[in-house]
Amino acid sequence: MYERILVPTDGSGTAESAVDHALDLAEKYEAEVHALYVIDTDSMSLSLGAEQLDRIEQGQYGEMEEVRERADRATGHVADRARDRGLETVEHVSAGRPHSLIADYIEDNDIDLVVMGSHGRSGIRRALLGSVTERTLRSTHVPVLVVDIDKSE
Ligand code: ATP
Ligand code: MN
Repeated sequence: MYERILVPTDGSGTAESAVDHALDLAEKYEAEVHALYVIDTDSMSLSLGAEQLDRIEQGQYGEMEEVRERADRATGHVADRARDRGLETVEHVSAGRPHSLIADYIEDNDIDLVVMGSHGRSGIRRALLGSVTERTLRSTHVPVLVVDIDKSE
């Protein structure tokens, strides 16, 4: 049923609680686990210039290396947990608009299930779903399992 499961992560606690569900399904279906972190350049556009944003989108971080390190920690955390359970894993970091790059990744890598949090790092529960989750649901046709931290415990 599922061969490649995508876990988009922003390193938040809610994204983390989605990982349990993703790994459990991956074990059952012997699926590969893909961990993706998108460096959100929209949210950085107020503090950085256009040139710096272009460089980041091309993977040149310069003095923004810590942004890349945070991304690597988030995907690494998912991948480590998956490897502990003997699962095949792929880690990926890109930069741009999170939901667009999540949708592109699904297409380009033949993902057949997405498992993600209902909310993320912003921490403010003003909406039923965080904007990245809502937009991902609107931009893809593959099934998306949305995990809410409050309901998963
Ligand atoms: P908002 O960002 O709309 O203010 P929020 O931070 O609470 O609200 P989202 O950003 O939609 O909610 O996060 C929901 C889920 O989307 C996260 O648990 C994670 O699975 C995924 N996600 C969010 N941001 C990213 C990102 N930059 N890269 C990869 N996955 C992400
Ligand atoms: Mn967010």
